[in-house]
Amino acid sequence: MSNMNFRIGYGEDIHRLEKGRDLYLAGIKIPHELGLVGHSDADVVIHALSDAILGALAKGDIGMLFPDNDPTTLGMASHIILEKVSSIMNEEGYQIGNIDISILAEKPKLMPYNFAMRESLAKILNIEISQISIKAMTNEKLDSIGHEEAIKAMATVLLERKKDE
Ligand code: MG
Repeated sequence: MSNMNFRIGYGEDIHRLEKGRDLYLAGIKIPHELGLVGHSDADVVIHALSDAILGALAKGDIGMLFPDNDPTTLGMASHIILEKVSSIMNEEGYQIGNIDISILAEKPKLMPYNFAMRESLAKILNIEISQISIKAMTNEKLDSIGHEEAIKAMATVLLERKKDE
C-alpha cells in the first residue's frame, strides 16, 4: 500500500424486493411487507459501504471476499462482511474519516430509522455517529426502484492513515 494520507472510495449495490423476506438496511431490521432478496441478508447499505471501503484500499470487492456460491455464507448477516472489511482496513493502516450514504427506496419511509441506521454502522465500525451521513430518497415512482421492485444504496468513504503508523 502506498503511504498516501487519504484515500477515497465509492460503492453501490441494488437488490430485488420480494414478499416473505425481512428488510435489513444498515444492519437493522425495518418493518415492511417486502424484503430484499440475496445470498446473504441482502443489506444493500452494508454491501455498498463495504465495497466503498475496499475500493478506497484497492482491495477488490465483497464478491471476491464472500462469493455468493459459497454455502457457508448463505443467509449470513451482513455486519460480518463489514467487520471483515473493517479489519482489512485496520491491517492496511487506515481508519474511517467520514462516510456519506444515499439510499434510493420508494417505500418504506426511512427517515424514522435514520438515526438507528447510523448508530448501527457506527457500532459495527467502532466510530462516531457524526462520521456517518445517511440520506434517503424515493425514485419518483420511476423504474424498478420507483415500482418498489428494488432498493439501491450508494456509499462514498474517505479513509485516513492512522496516526500511529
Ligand atoms: Mg449485495
